[in-house]
Amino acid sequence: MLRHLPEVRFLKSATHVSQLGVCHAEIALVGRSNVGKSSLLNSLADHRQLARVSRTPGRTRLINVFVAGPDRWIVDLPGYGYASGSARERSAWKDMLEGYLTLRDTLRVVLVLVDAEVGPTKLDHQMLEWLQAIDRPYRVVATKADRVKPSLQARRRRELAAALGLKPDDVAWVSSAKGTGIAELQREVAALLNLA
Ligand code: GDP
Repeated sequence: MLRHLPEVRFLKSATHVSQLGVCHAEIALVGRSNVGKSSLLNSLADHRQLARVSRTPGRTRLINVFVAGPDRWIVDLPGYGYASGSARERSAWKDMLEGYLTLRDTLRVVLVLVDAEVGPTKLDHQMLEWLQAIDRPYRVVATKADRVKPSLQARRRRELAAALGLKPDDVAWVSSAKGTGIAELQREVAALLNLA
């Protein structure tokens, strides 16, 4: 099988966009915690343990950078929706995320992960509205598609897209557990990073 993202590896973590340095092109992954972001990153990289680094204590709230090709990055942003954490922590997290999303010139597209079964949460809506407000291109990716019964898939796709004001085809539908939609998304990411 042709591998579109053959050599993804961890590069570095940062607490602020100013520490990131330059690259040619990058895409970013964002979503609420537990949406399946680490699993998707592992699937995109064909690497079962890759995203473990993003999950090690101390790194879950950082910007974690993975290299997908020469000066081409996949950036894993900290998951949102932690109920815990002090107001100060939440505000630091917001600054980090907003700083990154507003300031990165080389950021091509933000993959916004939404749980296929749960549908968009209030925080997902807020994220998407905010990305629209700052004119940042994004692509919605519905995760854990295998959790939706086959007989309900088509309807669920329509409903999820409609809830976000999108057409069903605007939403990538993936399952890291089953591999559904992964090759297509790999191809899309490779093209966005000019690796195809
Ligand atoms: P993160 O917090 O967003 O990084 O989420 P994880 O990737 O750690 O996944 C959270 C939970 O969802 C874990 O228990 C995963 O096993 C599960 N999960 C992730 N992706 C899938 C999927 O495609 N299908 C199913 N059924 N479960 C998944």
